[in-house]
Amino acid sequence: MIDFSPLEAWFITGSQHLYGPDVLKQVNADAQAIVDGLNAGGRLPIRLVFKPVLTTPDEVAAMLRDADAAPNCIGLVAWMHTFSPAKMWIGGLRRLDKPLCHLHTQFNRDIPWSSIDMDFMNLNQSAHGGREFGFICSRLRRNRKVVVGHWEDPAAHDRLAAWQRAAAARHDAQGMQIARIGDNMRQVAVTEGDKVEAELRLGYRVNGYGLGDLAARVAAVADEAVDRLCAEYDEQYAMAADLRPDGARRSSLRDAARIELGLRAFLEDGGFHAFTDTFENLHGLKQLPGIAAQRLMADGYGFGAEGDWKHAALVRSMKVMAHGLPGGVSFMEDYTYHFDPAGGKVLGAHMLEICPSIAADRPSCEVHPLGIGGKEDPVRLVFDAAAGPAVNATVVDMGDRFRMVVNTLDVVAPLEPLPKLPVARALWRAHPDLPTAAAAWIHAGGAHHTGFSLALTVEHLEDFAEMLGVEFLLIDETTDLRGFKNELRWNDAAYHAAGAHGR
Ligand code: MN
Repeated sequence: MIDFSPLEAWFITGSQHLYGPDVLKQVNADAQAIVDGLNAGGRLPIRLVFKPVLTTPDEVAAMLRDADAAPNCIGLVAWMHTFSPAKMWIGGLRRLDKPLCHLHTQFNRDIPWSSIDMDFMNLNQSAHGGREFGFICSRLRRNRKVVVGHWEDPAAHDRLAAWQRAAAARHDAQGMQIARIGDNMRQVAVTEGDKVEAELRLGYRVNGYGLGDLAARVAAVADEAVDRLCAEYDEQYAMAADLRPDGARRSSLRDAARIELGLRAFLEDGGFHAFTDTFENLHGLKQLPGIAAQRLMADGYGFGAEGDWKHAALVRSMKVMAHGLPGGVSFMEDYTYHFDPAGGKVLGAHMLEICPSIAADRPSCEVHPLGIGGKEDPVRLVFDAAAGPAVNATVVDMGDRFRMVVNTLDVVAPLEPLPKLPVARALWRAHPDLPTAAAAWIHAGGAHHTGFSLALTVEHLEDFAEMLGVEFLLIDETTDLRGFKNELRWNDAAYHAAGAHGR
């Protein structure tokens, strides 16, 4: 359900008529060569499309307007081959809605020491053409990414690739439909927020649905479809003895499969890409959706528990950003601590709903009591997360703006087996250390829910926040708590000065 193949990013080149037609011909040819080289490099997930060089304000305005109107264009990569007087960019940039990446490169990698003359200097002056373009973007307070490096350098490709992934997620969020099934867990604060402002700023639409809408879909599922899905479970997972075809609790598995099929049909028919549920409101369902939510996430759906639509949206966006990369993305919750003096750790999990895309090994399929919610025991997939570098991200509504907080992590194998813990889990070391990371997260008001990923890096999330105009706070190996608290104070002042939801 995530497909990058129709998407494209437009490559635009700025110049002017000052240098004559031959220079412009060369600029066009060089820009085309750069686009071809970037596409051929194999590191960009989304195709770059060459556009003819821009030399006048009207050409700029028309191109940027076309980019905004093009349904498959995720954003623009701009390069200044020569000097492109930037007043001619004002009209176009002022109206541009789509993300912008300024690729600050030049055609030649090296200075041609023995042959360089003033003709070469006039043709290859990105170093100051890019500064003129940078000024007008800053003067317009235009959020953008600036990638500096030679266009054949794989490091520059990777930075552009990260921006493309973020832009694809931003593209996906525009009009994304999120089903909030059964509203919010009662009295919970951080899962709430301004859904009107989210649609205005972030693009996605969150709407509530009663359980009756879903229960009717679940009840309508045919027995044969349940048979087929249970057979798929038998094949894909290590089945607990009581859930096997002759097991005493096979009927629980059938109930879970029926919920998955009904929920899937509900989401497909409504065109939803993310959803929430809550254990307090499950009228008409026998179990809290466990394996259903887990498998829908593995297929690319965003999910948030207890009505948490902001993290349902974030998980979906992270799924889009991570499309095709090794490692997975899951809904997650900081659950319990290991305060070992030799190095504190966090055990992350949820009641049920952790995505098997992050699993180290083949999940086991089990049924156990939930302890809350008053429903029948839910079926779930149980596994340990794969080890490796990871990120946890949260988005909260601060009242006057949305804030993203990201913490870098090292996921490690559990220190000992967890034979009695009947849920999927991840154990990690939070950077820079547990006391600093948790205190910074709490000062920032970060949620207990997160989007967790072994595939994404800080760069993806930072680019994504930047292009949505969301405040971005990072907790990593360099974080010191006093500096971080000052950053919170200064950001409050900056956003206050910029006005409500300033960007
Ligand atoms: Mn929760």
